[in-house]
Amino acid sequence: MIPDTPAGRFAPSPTGDLHFGSLLAAMASYCEARSKKLEWQLRIDDIDGPRSVPGAADSIQKTLIHYGLTWDGPIRWQSAQHLRYRHALATLIDDGLVFSCSCSRRSLPPGKVYPGTCRHNRLTSIDEPVVDKALRIVMPETLEFDDAVQGTQRVDVAATVGDIIIWRRDKLVSYTLACAVDDATDCTEVVRGADLLQSTAAQIAIMRYLSLPAPRYAHIPVAVDKNDDKLSKHSKAATLDSLDPLNTLQRAWHFLGQKGFETRTINDFWLQATDHWQISQVPAALRMAELQT
Ligand SMILES: [Zn+2]
Repeated sequence: MIPDTPAGRFAPSPTGDLHFGSLLAAMASYCEARSKKLEWQLRIDDIDGPRSVPGAADSIQKTLIHYGLTWDGPIRWQSAQHLRYRHALATLIDDGLVFSCSCSRRSLPPGKVYPGTCRHNRLTSIDEPVVDKALRIVMPETLEFDDAVQGTQRVDVAATVGDIIIWRRDKLVSYTLACAVDDATDCTEVVRGADLLQSTAAQIAIMRYLSLPAPRYAHIPVAVDKNDDKLSKHSKAATLDSLDPLNTLQRAWHFLGQKGFETRTINDFWLQATDHWQISQVPAALRMAELQT
């Protein structure tokens, strides 16, 4: 199954307002899709109900529009795709790749990958009753994939990712499984922050298990503040300036290693940006201090 329409996407979680780091991912994914004349989809990754912040999805849409970023087609809500994820889970179970895990967080070595304690508890059917347990998937030892910015990645999955949770103890699909299924089904290009490189390895493993085609990946550097902390929704440095969006766009453009150009309006910025965009110019550094203006 190959996506009907070649497309890129931007997929924020509704856990707060967009910040400079998310604008970088939006800009890079938008330019990469638009410069190839592909659709650019907006997906709201709202599977984690407990972490969703009321009003955040609305605010994200408003901010994107304020910055001149318009998406194609309807918004794709992960919360509306439960059947898709359940179907994927059933396939993985049928293939003998899923086991139930009752380990508590406290019983696991802190800061280390899951040691495979419950691997023997394989599930044989999605209808098998599972009470108060998470479902994990057996991961491959290693995995290799190409990245348009970071180059070929050889990931020691066993040492860095391990058998991840794909279905949570509270009966919610995990971010990794939902994202893998949606990206493979709907997109052909995924451009996002380099902090997700290891998660990408796990997602590709899942796509391969499900015989879904992996999209092309590009991982852009993560913006950090002066203390080398990732810009987060809580850090002041990351707040998007709603009064001068054009200036912020140019700052993001510069951060992404792109050659500057003269422009006076947001519309014109995006027209020129999609024309000038060169993914090969994006720096491969995994983390970069936000440029001061
Ligand atoms: Zn376990």
